[in-house]
Amino acid sequence: MSPFLHLFRRYLREQGLPVTQQRETVADVVFNSSDHLSIEDIEAGLKERGERLGKATIYRTMEILVRSGLVEEHDFGEGFKRYEHRFGRQPIHEHLICTNCHTVVEFRSEEVMRLEEEVARKHGFQPARHRLEVFGICAECQEQGVSIEYQGLTCPATQVA
Ligand SMILES: [Zn+2]
Ligand SMILES: [Zn+2]
Repeated sequence: MSPFLHLFRRYLREQGLPVTQQRETVADVVFNSSDHLSIEDIEAGLKERGERLGKATIYRTMEILVRSGLVEEHDFGEGFKRYEHRFGRQPIHEHLICTNCHTVVEFRSEEVMRLEEEVARKHGFQPARHRLEVFGICAECQEQGVSIEYQGLTCPATQVA
């Protein structure tokens, strides 16, 4: 069992929510992975442990975990959410997301942190968290000849031949 499970238990109790074995198991699967997990990934992790939980229970538990701040929710443009717990080696990190193979690369940047601070200070803003997601094509996909497909509006000026 993950050492972070007691934090989740405490949160459930504080919120007056039932501390169920099912919820704990879902949380344990998430806390024991350093990946960006989809609901399907979590379901597969539960099956590996011989647990069969309905998707509704998994969704509901993930909702609570996100609200508790123990887990972060991501939208990497795949049409579904991904989740990662906040106790990784890099508690604050940014993401490079390949829109072709959906590989996610994490990176940490002191400069981004400094920029956040600086911009916030300039605007008298008190920052709580930030999100930097760079979408594009990873090095491997580029090697295989994949290039960026422009899906936005085409600039009318370039159409005038
Ligand atoms: Zn790729
Ligand atoms: Zn991440």
